[in-house]
Amino acid sequence: MDDQLVEQLRMDVVRGAQALVEAGVLSGTQHGNWSVRIPGTDHILLTGSSLGGMKPEDLALLTLDGEVLQGGLSASSAEIIRMHTAVYLERSDVGSVVHTHSPYSSAFAVANRPLECYAEILARTGSSDPIPVAPYGPRGSDQSVANIVQAMRAAPTQNAVLLGNHGILAFGIDVAGARQMVFALEETAQLAILASAVGTPRTIPPHMVVAAEQRRVAFEAAGPVTAGGGSDRAD
Ligand SMILES: [Zn+2]
Repeated sequence: MDDQLVEQLRMDVVRGAQALVEAGVLSGTQHGNWSVRIPGTDHILLTGSSLGGMKPEDLALLTLDGEVLQGGLSASSAEIIRMHTAVYLERSDVGSVVHTHSPYSSAFAVANRPLECYAEILARTGSSDPIPVAPYGPRGSDQSVANIVQAMRAAPTQNAVLLGNHGILAFGIDVAGARQMVFALEETAQLAILASAVGTPRTIPPHMVVAAEQRRVAFEAAGPVTAGGGSDRAD
C-alpha cells in the first residue's frame, strides 16, 4: 500500500470534515462519520463519531469485510462500519462515503419523504430522480443495511440515500464528491422547506437537470477563464 497516498486520503477526510463544520451544515453535536476507499484495494479508512476536531490518526484502516487492520474505532463507531462498507460493495464507482445528521436534509429523512431536485445545486450533480429514503432500522443493523442497499438499487445512479428517521448518507467518486453531495442535499432541502413557507417548491424538469450537469462538466473541462485569454466555448 502506498503510505503517502494513505496519508493524503487521511488529510482529505480531515479537511472535508472541517469544511462541513465551517459551513454549518451539521447538527449541533457535529455527529457524523466519513470513509474513503484506498484506490485499487478492498480497504477503507473510516472516522469516529464526530466530524468536529478530527485528526488524521482518528481514521482506522479496515477491510470491506469490516476487519480493523490498523488503528481503532469506539464501540459506537463500530456500529456503523457496515453502513459504509455496504455502499462500497454495492457501487464500485464510489470512492468516499459520509454520514451526517444535517438538519434540513434529515428533516426529509424524518418525514420519510424523498428529496426531489428543487434547486440548481442538486441539479449540477445530475440528480434528476428523487433522493430515495431507506426505511428506518437501528444504525448499522442488518435491517438498516438491507434497506440502504434496496434504496440504492432503486436509484442506481444517485449518490445519496436518506436514512429514514435518522440522517443522510452521501457518496461520490472521492472525498470532494461526497462533501459536495452533502452541500447539495442540505442546501436543496433548506430551500425547499423555506419555499414551502412562501409557496410550493417546484422541481426542475429532468431534461433541465441533464442540461445543468452537462454544462457544469463542460465548463470544468474547459478550465478557468483568464484575462486576455478569451474563451472558445460553444455556448
Ligand atoms: Zn447517525
